[in-house]
Amino acid sequence: MAKKVAILGATGSVGTQSLDVARRHGYEIPLLSAHRNVDALERAVREFSPKFVAVTDTTAAKALRVAIADTPCQIFSGEDGLLEAIGKCGDGTTFVNAILGEAGLSPSLAVVEKGERLALANKETLVCAGAHVMARAKEQGAELLPVDSEHSAIFQCLHAGEKREVKRVLLTASGGPFYGKGREELRAVSLADVLRHPTWNMGRKITVDSATMMNKGFEIIEAVHLFGLDEKQIEVLVHRESIIHSAVEYIDNTIIAELSVPDMRACVQYAVDYPNRMMASIAPLDLFSVGSLTFLKADADTFTPLTLAREAVKLGGAMGAVLNAADEVAVQRHLSGEISFLSIFDLLEYTFARMTPYASGEKTYDEIRAYAKEARDIATTYTP
Ligand code: NDP
Ligand code: MG
Repeated sequence: MAKKVAILGATGSVGTQSLDVARRHGYEIPLLSAHRNVDALERAVREFSPKFVAVTDTTAAKALRVAIADTPCQIFSGEDGLLEAIGKCGDGTTFVNAILGEAGLSPSLAVVEKGERLALANKETLVCAGAHVMARAKEQGAELLPVDSEHSAIFQCLHAGEKREVKRVLLTASGGPFYGKGREELRAVSLADVLRHPTWNMGRKITVDSATMMNKGFEIIEAVHLFGLDEKQIEVLVHRESIIHSAVEYIDNTIIAELSVPDMRACVQYAVDYPNRMMASIAPLDLFSVGSLTFLKADADTFTPLTLAREAVKLGGAMGAVLNAADEVAVQRHLSGEISFLSIFDLLEYTFARMTPYASGEKTYDEIRAYAKEARDIATTYTP
């Protein structure tokens, strides 16, 4: 029987790669979602004939209703519509969450509450509310499988030993376009420079986050929650070639690493088909053409988001959500030309410091959402 795979955020970078995996492996798609890209969604609906489609932007939902009026596909509109559509998918559905930003959090929770498998690309789910989501997943018997390439690698490497035998995790980072530069050199970088990622082709938001290394900071938080690690057990290893996707060091000082060409389709496929391995959707890795692999230290003094992320873990509560909210605003403001690249760092530090006295310590899910909103407001009005 075909595997049932719902794809949330189907029009994005990870979403379209997920559709490609579905195409190659003949998954059945009960549900597709997007925010407002009606054209891409219409094409996907016509190709994959999902029973349900959810469009979170209500105006776009109306446009899609007209565009696919000749199909039997049922349309759900708005954020609540997406949650309702998730609820309607049958038992045994795997949900790929490739939505961008905090908007992916409540859909993730809806999947977890249903007790189904969540193939998670949306790292913001764990950055914002990792403790809550992991606890609910355990209670509901929902499987949470990472799609983020580093976490997919760590997950695979963890099969080589027991949890108590893990010494630490080596979280690899490409270093982004500005590795080796100091703060002064970052003052003059252009948006085109920022968007020129050396190894991965991704959405614009995460590409900016790779340049500031906020992405790696978020991935530290993600790993802490996913694998129950202490922040100190996670070392960032700059590895410019993006061939080793991360590694686990055991107490016997053996390091197990995962290597493949950088291609998110491998990660989506692994999360959907786990514990099985299916025929590749990606090219084989030719180690002879790679030649050598290099490793460098991360510069957390210049790329301060790395330190902010570790602080967020230590402070707990809503601080991950605060950092994420501030970053969503900062990147948006940078992409629209409103603030410089370096101002992203300043905005993050400012918002983080302002929120620390209130948002640290144990918090409920609702409090986390409220503090995130407050952080968003502070970040929006911040003037460099
Ligand atoms: P994109 O911006 O390319 O795509 C985002 C998707 O989410 C689109 O389908 C978009 O719909 C939808 N979306 C945007 N805003 C909302 C909203 N408010 N409500 C519901 N849906 C929304 O992002 P990426 O694919 O790059 O990233 C997606 C997630 O995967 C992120 O969490 C990212 O960190 C993570 N990730 C991405 C990697 C990559 O290679 N790109 C690698 C590892 C992790 P629409 O097109 O209609 O706007
Ligand atoms: Mg990653």
